[in-house]
Amino acid sequence: MPINNKNKIKLRWRRSKIIATIGPASETSKNIHDLIKAGVNVFRLNMSHGNHAGHKKVFKRIRLCAKKNNAYVAILMDLCGPKIRTGVFENGSIELKRNAKVVITCGKGIGREGLIVSQYKKLYKDVKIGERVLLDDGNLECRVESVQAKNIHCKVIYGGTLKNNKGINLPDSKVSVSSFTAKDKIDVQLAMELEADFVALSFVRSAKDVEGLKRHMQRTSHEIPIIAKIERPESVANINEIIKASYGIMIARGDLGIELPAEEVPLIQKEIINKARANHRPVIVATQMMESMITNARPTRAEVGDVANAALSSADAVMLSAETAAGKFPIKTVKMMDKILREIENHQWSKNRFGEKLDDFNDVVSSRKAIAHAANTLAQELKLQGILVPTRSGHTAAVLSASRPSSPLLGISANISTCQKLALHWGIISFLVEEKKAHDWKALAQDIGKQCRLAKTGNRILLVSGFNDDEKLNEPVLKIIKILS
Ligand code: PGA
Ligand code: MN
Repeated sequence: MPINNKNKIKLRWRRSKIIATIGPASETSKNIHDLIKAGVNVFRLNMSHGNHAGHKKVFKRIRLCAKKNNAYVAILMDLCGPKIRTGVFENGSIELKRNAKVVITCGKGIGREGLIVSQYKKLYKDVKIGERVLLDDGNLECRVESVQAKNIHCKVIYGGTLKNNKGINLPDSKVSVSSFTAKDKIDVQLAMELEADFVALSFVRSAKDVEGLKRHMQRTSHEIPIIAKIERPESVANINEIIKASYGIMIARGDLGIELPAEEVPLIQKEIINKARANHRPVIVATQMMESMITNARPTRAEVGDVANAALSSADAVMLSAETAAGKFPIKTVKMMDKILREIENHQWSKNRFGEKLDDFNDVVSSRKAIAHAANTLAQELKLQGILVPTRSGHTAAVLSASRPSSPLLGISANISTCQKLALHWGIISFLVEEKKAHDWKALAQDIGKQCRLAKTGNRILLVSGFNDDEKLNEPVLKIIKILS
C-alpha cells in the first residue's frame, strides 16, 4: 500500500496524458512553453470561441514551442457542433422565477423579461409538451407547456439569472440538427489547412455522423483522425458503432451530465473507457476535472479524487477546459494534475496493474492484439525497461498501448505527425527517427536506450516489429535487446 511508504517508487514517465484547452489565459508563447514543461501532451483549440486568424496564430505558436522544447505534442481542434444557445437580452440578462411563464422564440430578435431567443431556428419543431428545456449548463430548468407557431411556451421549474449566449440542452427531445454544422465545415477546413492532429466532433449521435465528417475530409483534402464527443443520450446508446467509426473517444461530461441524469455518468465513463480500450481507441475523460482551480490555487479533494479515478480506470487522457483556457492558474493546474496522475501510476506500477483485464479483449483476434498481450507479459515478467515499437501509422503502438503494459512504450516513427498523434495515447513516448535509419532497429534500440539513459548493465528492452498495414504481410518479431553501456 502507498500509505506511509517512504520508499515509494517514482516512475520517470507519466503514462496518462494531459490535454489542455488553450484560451486567453494561456495563449502566449511563454504560457505554451510553461504548459509543455508542466506536462501537457495535447493542446485543444476550442472552435466555439475566437476566430480563424487567432486560432491560426496560436496553432503555429504551439508547433514552434513544441519544436523548441523537443516535445511531440498533438493539437486537437474541437468543432463546436450544434450546441444550442440562447441569444442576447436587452439588458444582458433576465431573471427566471419559479413557476413563472417564459416564451422561447426561434430565430432573430433580442430577448427581454419573459422572452428568450433561441439561436437554433428549428427548436420549436424538436420539442414536445412536457419535455424539459435546460438553460445555462442545466442550472435553470423549464418545462414545455405548449408550442404555438415558432414560440415555445414554458413554465419555469428551477429559476435564476440567465445571461446572454448560454447553452440550451434538451435531454428529453430528439434533436434533428446534424452534428456537422455549416460552421464546422468552415472550421474543419482550417484544421486541414493547418494539419491539425485531431478533430473532435461534438454531439455525435451515431457512427453515420463520424463517417460523414470522414468522407467530407477525404473529398476536400485529407483525413484527420476524428475524436467523437459522447455528450448525447443517443451516442451512449450507439457507443459500439461510434467507437468503431472513430479514431478516439471523448467522454464529454459537461453536456453528457446535463443530457443524462448526472448520477449515470460515472459508470458510463467506466464502461466507455473499457470499450474504447478493447478496440484500441484512445479515450479522454473531459470537463470539470479541476473546475475550482479556475479561481482557486488548490483543487477540491473531490476533484483530486476524480482525476485519480480516471487514472485508476485507465483512461488514455484527462482534459482541462476553462481551467487552462480562462482560469487564473493554468500552469499550476497542469502541475497538480500531473502530480495526482503520477501518484496513482506509481501505485499501479508497484501492483503490476495499470488497467483492468478486459473481458472482451479476445473478441476480435488479430495478430497485433495477441502480440501486444505477449509483449505485455514478457515485459512484466522479465522486468524489461521499455518496449520499443517502430510504427509507421501509429497503429501497432496504439494496440500495444491499449494492453496497458507496465514498461514504457517507446514509439519510433520517421513521420512527425505519427509522433504527435501518439502523444494522446496512454504510456507512449514518441521518438522521431530519420527515414534512412528506420530499418536497423537494433542500432536504433541502442541509440534510444542511450538517449533514455537506460544503458546500465542488465537493462533490457523488448523490440516489437514486423507489422504491416496489410495484415497478410505481417511477420511479427519479439526480440529482447540488451542496452550496452
Ligand atoms: P465542450 O465539450 O467543452 O465543447 O462543451 C465538453 C463537454 O461537453 O464536456
Ligand atoms: Mn460539450
